[in-house]
Amino acid sequence: MKSLPITIDSVSRAYGSYVALDDVSLDIQAGEFLTLLGPSGSGKTTLLMALAGFVRPDSGKLLLGDRDITRLAPNKRDIGIVFQNYALFPYMNVLANVAYPLALRKTPRAEARQRALAALARVKLDGLAERNVAALSGGQRQRVALARAIVFEPRVMLMDEPLSALDKNLRETMQYEIRRLHDDLAITTIYVTHDQREALIMSDRIAVMNSGRIQQIDTPQRIYDRPSTRFVAEFMGEANIVAPGSVRRIDGAEASRETLMIRAESFHLDAKLVGEDGVALEGILRAKAFRGENWLLTLALDGGQEVLVCIPAALASGCAKLAAGQRMTAYAPAAKVHAIPGAMA
Ligand code: ADP
Ligand code: MG
Repeated sequence: MKSLPITIDSVSRAYGSYVALDDVSLDIQAGEFLTLLGPSGSGKTTLLMALAGFVRPDSGKLLLGDRDITRLAPNKRDIGIVFQNYALFPYMNVLANVAYPLALRKTPRAEARQRALAALARVKLDGLAERNVAALSGGQRQRVALARAIVFEPRVMLMDEPLSALDKNLRETMQYEIRRLHDDLAITTIYVTHDQREALIMSDRIAVMNSGRIQQIDTPQRIYDRPSTRFVAEFMGEANIVAPGSVRRIDGAEASRETLMIRAESFHLDAKLVGEDGVALEGILRAKAFRGENWLLTLALDGGQEVLVCIPAALASGCAKLAAGQRMTAYAPAAKVHAIPGAMA
């Protein structure tokens, strides 16, 4: 089955006077794994439900391949969906839940059974076909929901925070499994999460949403290293947004006239590890905290701004001896200093 590209063209949706989607445009390539990442309330679910057909856009268009699906009924869209809360039928067994989309499509019983068993094997639930879903663990239920979403070989898969109810270890295992399932089936996938790490690990591209708008669409690495807005920079990790005047080049020259972003983990305390082409930030150590894999230092720059400096434990032999109040310098390679156009420090 060929997967299809998705086009989201200027889609808006308001609830009363509240704008949940504000002129959103996004092209997803055939076979791509794209994640919508944003804080709670940013419009992720609304956009996914518009694609699924459960929310009608006020304006704009949705295309699956060349086909305009904006006004098509949900069950005609050829889209598999996995919800956060599984949405399984509690009184049916596993097999009946998975076969349900095929029953809706009037697939003959024997064929439906065969295909449901194959889908269960794909999500590693062979052997549980006759089990009642009420007797399954959270992780097993989410696998049943996955099997049900792929059983009719949809052209597109939508997943709305499918792992958020699972504990951390299981969530990490499932991240890799969902990504592998996507790669095996080569199915165009839009995945929703508010978890930055999950988005970085799983995605071909990430669209960062805030207040009903897409702030940036890019590869995980570019989203992390080259955020185009202050919001993206801070949402994606321990970002220091530094005013131009506080940062000097190692040779003493002015670093930039723009607002700069330097991630906490880009710093070194040893200038030799940075080389000639780097920047230096000078200030007073305000606080330090040991976090297991690293130390987190809070440095108050001479201008008063506080900067977070994260030193991996393996390189931090000196950190234990540092005392609050002492003067120190943190260095970062120029390649890790990113200007954010138009941002105000
Ligand atoms: P997310 O999935 O990113 O958390 P949602 O798309 O669910 O965000 O919601 C975006 C905004 O739209 C939220 O402020 C939410 O309260 C509002 N909203 C969503 N659905 C409805 C609805 N049916 N009625 C009124 N407001 C809604
Ligand atoms: Mg949501």
